[in-house]
Amino acid sequence: MLCLFLLIKIFPVTYAFDRYPRNINADVIHYEFDLAINDSTDRIDGRASIKIKILNDTDSLSLDLIGRKNTGKGMIVTNVSLNDQNVKWKQKEESLIVFFNNQLRERDTLEIIVDYNGIPSDGLIISKNKYGNRTFFADHWPDRAHCYLPCIDHPYDKASVDFVITAPGRYKIVASGILVEESDLADNKKLTHWSEAAQLATKVMTFGAAEFAVRSAGIVSNVPVWSWVFPENRKEGFYDYSVAVRPLEYFSKLIGPYPYKKLADVQSKTIYGGLENAGTIFYSENSVTGLGKAEGLIAHEIAHQWFGDCVTENDWYHVWLSEGFATYVTSLYFESFEGKERLKSDMESARTRVLKYYEKNPEPVIDTTLTNLMDLLNPNSYQKGAWVLHMLRHDLGDSIFIKGLQLYYDRFYNSNALTEDLRNVMEEVSGRNLEIFFRQWLYTKGQPELRIWHEKGKKKGTIEVYIEQKQVPLFEFNLELLIKGNSIDRIDNVAVKKKITKIVIPLAADVVITPDPNVNLLFKQY
Ligand SMILES: [Zn+2]
Repeated sequence: MLCLFLLIKIFPVTYAFDRYPRNINADVIHYEFDLAINDSTDRIDGRASIKIKILNDTDSLSLDLIGRKNTGKGMIVTNVSLNDQNVKWKQKEESLIVFFNNQLRERDTLEIIVDYNGIPSDGLIISKNKYGNRTFFADHWPDRAHCYLPCIDHPYDKASVDFVITAPGRYKIVASGILVEESDLADNKKLTHWSEAAQLATKVMTFGAAEFAVRSAGIVSNVPVWSWVFPENRKEGFYDYSVAVRPLEYFSKLIGPYPYKKLADVQSKTIYGGLENAGTIFYSENSVTGLGKAEGLIAHEIAHQWFGDCVTENDWYHVWLSEGFATYVTSLYFESFEGKERLKSDMESARTRVLKYYEKNPEPVIDTTLTNLMDLLNPNSYQKGAWVLHMLRHDLGDSIFIKGLQLYYDRFYNSNALTEDLRNVMEEVSGRNLEIFFRQWLYTKGQPELRIWHEKGKKKGTIEVYIEQKQVPLFEFNLELLIKGNSIDRIDNVAVKKKITKIVIPLAADVVITPDPNVNLLFKQY
């Protein structure tokens, strides 16, 4: 996702990570959400059919669902059945407990059907777009799906999903997956059914209902690419979103086959700049300008289809596996078209953001002290995550690094991964032990803070170069030094490990030394 921080700031989410502990009893296999929306109220009428595999013997199960609050918003459950038999249930503030008549056994699979209704407090944005037209847009990230959908609202539990939406006939409905039915019903209503067979986290399942203009932007390796924009933006939107075929083609070649059956780029009311819903990306309504300015945003969200959507972090703390990856492979995309200088300039501005953020937030990328999921959308997850990949690439070399990305994608396809899974893959392809690399850049706060100076050597005809690490703890890294003088112009690669590293260079004349001329190290210079 690419977020608009201003919007985030006013968005009052205060969820703690352990508020939704892992559901040890259930693994959702499939959701079908049948939802009826209308024009006279913001109430939705829902039926969720949830196929579940039981993981431990149990006589009850808990699903995430926000109940009705004093505000009048939230969901009221009216009936729950299990394999066609009504069962008892209880709603709590943010959960639905379903009780079974008999104890269920490990490995049983069952289908729970939940009938419910209510006005969503969040997660489904029912509002008017900038042209004054009523729209409905799901907006689940990070765990806002359970504001209106009974589910296990955590990225580790992935499932396939169907959305069956009944809406007034004037709406076009877009959703995760492929279109399997669009039928006119009585009373000028329309039923639209989309089905996604791939395993998705709830954060990237989606549907939207609005008056749309829809046009093909092309086909990339048999994947149709569609632009869905507000009819008032038909010309500008089709132009801006048509660029999507380029990153789709590039990432398919770089990483591996695109994981979904279609790509829809959708103008929407997401609170973010863009939200990487699987196969059905939502962009803010102002992303359309007609000036072709959205390429970076579109490339970022498309990159998420591989990293974040198909390979999903198993735990929120590892969200850099989504955001750092999307940020860095987008830089690779621009590098491939514009060259090395573009990548250098991207990494320089990313470094500035990381260092600035660190001044006020001295925390590691994997920060287990965070209690607000929205706080994960920070420069550590995006820019520092991108820097970790950039340095890994420099350490391992381009071909091994890319091989690692491809293997990581292939191994955790449609599944979940943690940072250690990435490390294992990178160690496997490189034959290297990367324990120190991963520990210091991801689990340790900060980065090298270096004082670098040189003086005339004690031995005649030499100079001594000193590199002092000011921060604690010390890091291990290679630092490139550009050494320039009358008769010299070369880059030396210095292994730095200790507090003070000294190298002696046989040189009589004075030189100018520039650290990291090719922008390959995340560090701060004193
Ligand atoms: Zn992102």
